[in-house]
Amino acid sequence: MNWLAHIQRRLAWKLFASYLVIVMVGVVVLAGVAAFAAPVALERHLERMQALAGADPALAADLRTNFIAAVLEILAVAAGAAVVAAIAVSTFTARRIVGPIQEMVRASRRIAGGDYARRVPVASQDELGMLTQAFNQMAETLERIEARRMELIGNVAHELRTPLSGIRTITEGLADGVLPAEAETFQQVQREVARLQRLVQDLEELSRAEAGQIPLDRRPVAPVALVQGAVERLQSQYADKGVALEVEVLPDLPAVQADAGRVTQVLLNLLGNALQYTPAGGRVVAGARAAGSEVAFWVRDTGIGIPAEHLPHLFERFYRVDKSRSRAGGGSGIGLTIAKHLVEAHGGHIQASSAGPGRGSTFTFTLPASA
Ligand code: ADP
Repeated sequence: MNWLAHIQRRLAWKLFASYLVIVMVGVVVLAGVAAFAAPVALERHLERMQALAGADPALAADLRTNFIAAVLEILAVAAGAAVVAAIAVSTFTARRIVGPIQEMVRASRRIAGGDYARRVPVASQDELGMLTQAFNQMAETLERIEARRMELIGNVAHELRTPLSGIRTITEGLADGVLPAEAETFQQVQREVARLQRLVQDLEELSRAEAGQIPLDRRPVAPVALVQGAVERLQSQYADKGVALEVEVLPDLPAVQADAGRVTQVLLNLLGNALQYTPAGGRVVAGARAAGSEVAFWVRDTGIGIPAEHLPHLFERFYRVDKSRSRAGGGSGIGLTIAKHLVEAHGGHIQASSAGPGRGSTFTFTLPASA
């Protein structure tokens, strides 16, 4: 039963077979009706002719035979025409249905092989057209995810290179006797290892934040407590660098519905950045104010500022305004990305503004007020 298996594997053959079945049923029904009804009708007409023109039994028998033969002949011609029509219609329909499906099969094989740029032309507005559109959308999403994956791998490799080559240089210097085996040399290695550890921690945190896997323990918290708590933790570092740190929380603010630990993490990140990018003698103010049904938290510094063209990209992974500068300072460029995810997980949003280079920056994020 090879031909049956062949028909079962091909949509075009199945379509043709279904038309053929309809044609055959039609022919059988017609033949059946003709076999019963035609002799009765012929008999009636013959009787009327015999009554009018007199009887000739031989002529009547001849008429009967020829009439049945003519009916069968007409049926055979009609059945042939119907089969030809079935072939034509099934070929046309199959081309319209099977063509795009085969195109999609080819495209999905190419995509499975890593060619994410493949798309299928949308040829109709019907369900098949919708399927093609959905397929193309899927391919587009896959292409975007793949591009982000490649970008992430490239970025991580790039980030690992600096501390690793630092460690390599020091250990080679030690091995060659160029560097002395003293405390300062080992502290340099420790600093590079610490950078690597920080990067790995940030990456772990980022991947959990991007996957929405950071659980939030949200309770009503007073904004002033959040700002004060974060400021107190960094007070001594600010004092060491000689940057003033102040708090400016408006009174009577509603409590926010938030995970205090996570909001503190965001504030520490913003205050840490403000300290890093503000020279000694500068000033940083952290505060909170009401903003409709939300509370807006802000950190404003008098630091190096941010050129306008960089503002829209600050929250992207690994984005740094001055690549060499912040890498040397140990920044991984993902602190703000994590902060954005944390704020958005609370239902808020975060943004940065700056009057330009040398004119300071302000980072503001909102959190919903507790009902
Ligand atoms: P990093 O760990 O490099 O600081 P972030 O994601 O926290 O990474 O910040 C991304 C970039 O945004 C920084 O590299 C820096 O160029 C810029 N930036 C962040 N905060 C400030 C600020 N207060 N003043 C000036 N530039 C800033």
